[in-house]
Parts: sequence; C-alpha cells; structure tokens
Amino acid sequence: VEYAPQLVALSRTELLAKISAQLSAGRFAHVQRVEQTAIELAQKYGVDVQRAGLAGLVHDYAKQRSDSEFKQIIRQQQFDPDLLTANNGIWHGVVGAYLIERELGIHDQQILNAVRRHTVGAVEMTDLDQLIFVADFIEPGRDFPGVDQARAAAAESLIAGVRFEVSHTLKFLLAKQVKIYPKTIDTYNAWVAQKK
Ligand code: GDP
Ligand code: FE
Ligand code: FE
Ligand code: FE
Repeated sequence: VEYAPQLVALSRTELLAKISAQLSAGRFAHVQRVEQTAIELAQKYGVDVQRAGLAGLVHDYAKQRSDSEFKQIIRQQQFDPDLLTANNGIWHGVVGAYLIERELGIHDQQILNAVRRHTVGAVEMTDLDQLIFVADFIEPGRDFPGVDQARAAAAESLIAGVRFEVSHTLKFLLAKQVKIYPKTIDTYNAWVAQKK
C-alpha cells in the first residue's frame, strides 16, 4: 500500500527503510503482519483502511529504543513525570507516538492515539484504537494458548476482540505475578467488568 501524502509524506519504500532501520528483523516482520491484519479488519469493519494500515505499520516503531532515550525525551518534552517510573511496555506506545510524529512526519492524531493506546488500551477507544489493539494481538505470527479464541472474538466484532484480549492479558499478567499498570486495570474495568 502507498499511503496518502496527507498521512505521510514519505514513499512506502522510504517509510519501510526508516522503520526497518529501527527494528530487528523479527520485529519488522511483526509490524508488517500487523499492517496487513489491520487492513483486513478495517475492510471488514468499515474503518479507514489507510489509517489502519499505517498505524499498524508504525505501532512498534519505538519498541527498541533504550530506556535512557525514553527518559530523556520525557524530561525534555515535559511529559507527565509519572511516566518516568514506567518502562518500555508503556513508553514504546506513549512516547513512541512522539517519535513517530517527529521522525516519520505522521501528524494524524487518530493514528498517533491508536499507537499510544495499543499496549494497555484505554477507557475510551475509537474504532481505530480497538482495531490496532486487536490486530497486534491476533496477527498471523502470534502463537499463544488462546490465540484462536482471540481470532474468533475479533471475527465477531472489534468490541468482542478487545474484551477477550483485555481479560486474557490480565489473566496472563496475574499468572506471571508481574506489575499491572494502573491503565491496564482501568481498561479492564471499562471493557470487561460487569457494570452491575
Ligand atoms: P508488542 O509490542 O507487539 O510486543 O505488544 P504490546 O505493545 O501489546 O505489549 C507489550 C507487552 O506488554 C506484552 O508482553 C504485554 O503482555 C505487556 N503488558 C501489557 N499490559 C501490561 C501490564 O499491565 N503490566 C505488564 N507488566 N506488562 C503488560
Ligand atoms: Fe507494542
Ligand atoms: Fe497489543
Ligand atoms: Fe506489536
């Protein structure tokens, strides 16, 4: 896919070169699969195909930056200082959106928000946010117990896909006894918990 110049001025060849320069071969292959999955979901659900594909392609652009670079940007750009206590899991989306805008020249706020929200979700998610969140989880290279159910949920609706992913991820994180980010809990409460 060539992306419209209003979304990104770089040609596809230039864009792929810039992205691959930042990522391992395996991670670069992942983002290309997420792009394709996002395009397919966008066609199925009537979401903007260009924004979906481009957001999928760039969503992990900053994944392999160092912790020190993220911290430096958070200080320099006066991001919320609470972010300093986070880690790559949070930074590669939230701070990654800043790097995508600055280094790839993508200024579209719908795309940047979908990148910001792709790891922990959010209480309010647009269709594009939901689509990228889900595409990242079900792209054909993913292989984990439950991935078939995740794909089935995503085939039912974006909302079903998000709900399955949020509860599956939370169970997985609890089983590993790792720290649960507060936003992950907020997303769970908004999307999965019974409203009663
Ligand atoms: P990736 O960048 O394509 O690997 O996928 P994501 O950006 O969606 O997620 C990155 C990692 O963050 C995954 O391994 C998730 O399981 C993990 N993750 C998501 N939410 C949380 C959380 O609340 N706490 C912790 N510790 N990890 C999380
Ligand atoms: Fe990611
Ligand atoms: Fe994800
Ligand atoms: Fe990803």
